[in-house]
Amino acid sequence: MTKLVLIGGGHSHAIALKMYYDNPIKNIEIILINEVKNTPYSGMLPAYIAGYYNFEQTHINLEKLSKKTKIKLIIDQVININPKQQKVICKSGKIIPYDYLSIDIGSPPKQSRIKGATEYSIPAKPVSTLLKEWDKIISKCHQTNQENINLNIIGAGAGGVELALNMFQKLTNLNTIKKVNITVISRNETILRNYNQLAINIVSKILKNKGIKVIFNTEIIEILPNAIITQKKEKISSDYTFLVTNPSPAPWLKNTEITLDEQGFILISNTLQSVSHKNIFATGDIATIKNYPCPKAGVFAVRQGKPLYQNWKLIVQGKNLQPYYPQSLYLSLIGTGNQKAVAIWGNLAYHSSWLWWLKDYIDKKFMKQFSI
Ligand SMILES: Cc1cc2nc3c(=O)[nH]c(=O)nc-3n(C[C@H](O)[C@H](O)[C@H](O)COP(=O)(O)OP(=O)(O)OC[C@H]3O[C@@H](n4cnc5c(N)ncnc54)[C@H](O)[C@@H]3O)c2cc1C
Repeated sequence: MTKLVLIGGGHSHAIALKMYYDNPIKNIEIILINEVKNTPYSGMLPAYIAGYYNFEQTHINLEKLSKKTKIKLIIDQVININPKQQKVICKSGKIIPYDYLSIDIGSPPKQSRIKGATEYSIPAKPVSTLLKEWDKIISKCHQTNQENINLNIIGAGAGGVELALNMFQKLTNLNTIKKVNITVISRNETILRNYNQLAINIVSKILKNKGIKVIFNTEIIEILPNAIITQKKEKISSDYTFLVTNPSPAPWLKNTEITLDEQGFILISNTLQSVSHKNIFATGDIATIKNYPCPKAGVFAVRQGKPLYQNWKLIVQGKNLQPYYPQSLYLSLIGTGNQKAVAIWGNLAYHSSWLWWLKDYIDKKFMKQFSI
């Protein structure tokens, strides 16, 4: 029996496991190691924050998926890999041998350079922590009548602005707070740096209309319990500080012999195999495809699920693997919190309530495939 060990129950692994459920691979034993029982679906998270979806609607239940696919699920955190001995090392001390390995562990926001970030900020990932902290903030707001609430979001990419808009929606709907002050901090001269100018203009206008402040060209150097400090030594008052900065790779990967890119993400070829270890696959945010870099976004992690499953199957059968090429054009849908969304496609962008219905339809359809 060939042993395939999956680290992380991210988007690609969830899709590949659903395909395995539909078409099992012969003579294979699959073990999935994930640090939590429920893996979040990123597309629906901001709307969970706004209060439109509940936990079950936005999370893939890995326990149920594992039972249905007849694979073994281990709830643990992987802290190292020994590719020579073909072993995975877990935080609990468990050591799991493998013939083939597949890694889909996502990437938390970068925070190393900000003093106090570990103690006083809420990172967007792991999502389980973000949602727990958000639920605590909401119940505190329910219990106490506050005059003002000051929220700062460090990072002005799609995740940062979408969180800001959805947090604003939820907090203003509560009616227990008189003034909701949300500030988005960008280290660049713009928000949504990787998007077209039309999208930037549309989203900037929405933020402005809601009174969400954006501060540009600002680096945060320190986070305190009730404030954040900029590089110009300005102090901004902050009840809660969220980190939605660029994704960063898990630091323990440096201790493995797996070849990484200059930022520390696993370097893979078009067959989704590590360039240094052909029996190791990697997908989603944690992987960088050599010569075909693509944004670290859920949409790519999802798309890699199908070729990943196909290549698991081909490699155990001793056949040639199929290449995967990321698409250059892709649809981004940013929920603006008020049951409207901005769609971005190439140089186009549009804001409307029917785009929210489209986003809701796409996201619910994605989740429905796991109700097996
Ligand atoms: C607020 C926010 C909104 C976003 N919205 C969108 C969006 O609308 N569209 C979009 O395309 N992208 C969006 N993104 C980006 C998206 O979240 C990521 O690109 C996507 O989640 C990457 O998927 P993945 O499969 O690589 O990993 P993930 O979905 O992050 O899954 C990784 C899994 O591995 C587990 N894990 C991690 N480390 C270990 C370990 N050491 N051992 C065991 N298990 C481990 C984690 O618990 C998790 O379950 C958003 C991001 C944020 C922060």
